[in-house]
Amino acid sequence: MARLLIVEDDVAIGRAVHAGLQAHSHDVTWVQTGAEALKAVRDEPFELALLDLGLPDLDGVDVCRQVRAAQPNCVIVILTARDEEIDVVVGLEAGADDYLTKPFRLAELLARIRAHLRRGSAAPAPSRILQLGALQVDTAARRVRLGGREVALRAKEFDLLARLVAEPGTAVSRDVLMADVWDENWFGSTKTLDVHLSALRRKLTAAAQACGERAPDIVTLRGVGYRVEAE
Ligand code: CA
Repeated sequence: MARLLIVEDDVAIGRAVHAGLQAHSHDVTWVQTGAEALKAVRDEPFELALLDLGLPDLDGVDVCRQVRAAQPNCVIVILTARDEEIDVVVGLEAGADDYLTKPFRLAELLARIRAHLRRGSAAPAPSRILQLGALQVDTAARRVRLGGREVALRAKEFDLLARLVAEPGTAVSRDVLMADVWDENWFGSTKTLDVHLSALRRKLTAAAQACGERAPDIVTLRGVGYRVEAE
């Protein structure tokens, strides 16, 4: 059982999701406005928040940013009405961990929630420092440095980078990345992978420019996956 927050103004969706998650023994709070969401996250801790980006009172991305600031450890899954990459990217930049495009099936939502909550409670990884050029990835501390400077990454961006850097020069397939970074039983859209990868590239490039180092080169292998270039 987990403490979950649903922020959704569409009553039909909110009611269905609320009932579905309660039926799976989660402790669920459902609110319909951004203001109520911000009050809820001030009042009590949540393990996971489902956040509709199209809210009647406040900008959903702003709400996302404030939920992230109020509760650094809460998993945030944003809900978008349209499959628009711009909404998804802006939401992920604002601190969301994942997204779902409406309409979605309850089974898909439950699988995502299980995957996120299981990962959150996993035992700490054995200490390991991966080095690739100016890049250093500390898998135990979950810290990334480029040219000695810390690079702030979201949880899945970190997992993705650590997975690729573990095997420099080796192609890692999309299936393997989805299984290792998300969940072995993933059956949602793998666009999540591309969105996280582009956010990761952007952050590494910005960090490299800031310190005058080279960012690791993450190569897209069309239809196959990704490869981080060995030095
Ligand atoms: Ca809405």
